[in-house]
Amino acid sequence: MSHIASRAWQGVDQAAHRRMVPVWVSATHPLAGHGSVNVVDLVSWPLIGVGFPKVTSGIHDLRLPSQADASRFLAAGRIDRRLPSPPKVDVLAFRLRSLRPMKAFFSPHHAGHRPSQTFRHGRIVPNRDLPARADNILSALRADGHTLLGAAPHGMAPIAAIHTPEYLDFLRHAWGEWRKIEGASEDVFPYIFPVRGMDHGYPTSIVGRAGYHMHDCWAPIGQHTWDVATDSANLAVEAAEQVLAGERAVYALCRPSGHHAFADMGGGNCFLNNAAIAAQHMRQRFARVALIDVDVHHGNGSQGVFYRRDDVLFVSLHRDPVDYHPYFAGHAHERGEGNGRGFNLNLPLPKASGDEAFLAALETACVRIRAFEAEALVVSLGVDAHEADPTEGLKVTYDGFRRIGARLAGLNLPTVLVQEGGYNMDTIARCVAGALAGFEGRETTAA
Ligand SMILES: [Zn+2]
Repeated sequence: MSHIASRAWQGVDQAAHRRMVPVWVSATHPLAGHGSVNVVDLVSWPLIGVGFPKVTSGIHDLRLPSQADASRFLAAGRIDRRLPSPPKVDVLAFRLRSLRPMKAFFSPHHAGHRPSQTFRHGRIVPNRDLPARADNILSALRADGHTLLGAAPHGMAPIAAIHTPEYLDFLRHAWGEWRKIEGASEDVFPYIFPVRGMDHGYPTSIVGRAGYHMHDCWAPIGQHTWDVATDSANLAVEAAEQVLAGERAVYALCRPSGHHAFADMGGGNCFLNNAAIAAQHMRQRFARVALIDVDVHHGNGSQGVFYRRDDVLFVSLHRDPVDYHPYFAGHAHERGEGNGRGFNLNLPLPKASGDEAFLAALETACVRIRAFEAEALVVSLGVDAHEADPTEGLKVTYDGFRRIGARLAGLNLPTVLVQEGGYNMDTIARCVAGALAGFEGRETTAA
């Protein structure tokens, strides 16, 4: 913080200060250089004694008591009316910004989930969900100055608010039951699935339950998967808690990912839907929550969870599933059902689309989120749309991820960012760090 901004903090109650929403003033704004504008003169907030010093250059932080106050502060007319001799201001260039890079929550236990293989095009191939994914991201965030934190335990209630009891029971016990089968593989791999349109009832055998609860063969369940998946979901809950408590934006380094998990089905290396759990948790305070998914794969699980609801808007940008995972969902005609009709927006992009196509679709997504009057945002932050990702879906660049972060920040909503996919060990960290840096209007040091 600059010495000028530091002076503005003198006399501020530190506990109250931590609860406040950070805001910054662009030095290019006409208000900059106006002189010793006193915040109390502008708006009647409890910031007694906090003078806003003369700003000549640079960016200077000013804190406001709550998100709602910040929104009001952003309203140009309010400030114009209260200034004794208003500067000639048409649009106030205030932007929400943290004083330091946002908090990032992670679990050191994620490496316990270590799926060895998966199926692709009929062949057994190495699984891409390697622990190094999260480790690399962690290193980059540390270098960028993020505060890296473990999460407090939040119990099973937030998870059970999204997932069914029978599915959670299956996940918890699947590995132990599977290993009782003579000659069974190390990890649980479903290989027989329910037939469409038939009422089978609920299976009792572990083989039947695996086929019932897993929608593909891409999410092997190992000995520690349950513990690691619940840890991962807990990070998303912690991030939501932090935002509920007043943080502007918080990142959860979830591994395994979650957006392919339905209420009672896992798949695509996902078991518990971390982003959906966070969105549901934010509903405690926010009437309307938007969940936007920028992973290269459609968030079929998230769509499934909220498909019949109008209080959580789901928007997904992804490679067109006509010839790409998850094939069965993610098409533009899927708009929601019942109360949820019109509250599901899929924006499929042609194979190998680059930054401009992605950003144009993101603009459409943001317009929809605005129209929805979302009060909070959850971002499923997959970075496998990167041009060097082995999933070969889209061709978003590093700069594209920075711009995606910046555009999402422009929604000016309390935001939880949840890690989803990203499988190139050389690029994943820079993509994530760049997106978070873009969100906060700064640069990343990740190379
Ligand atoms: Zn993905």
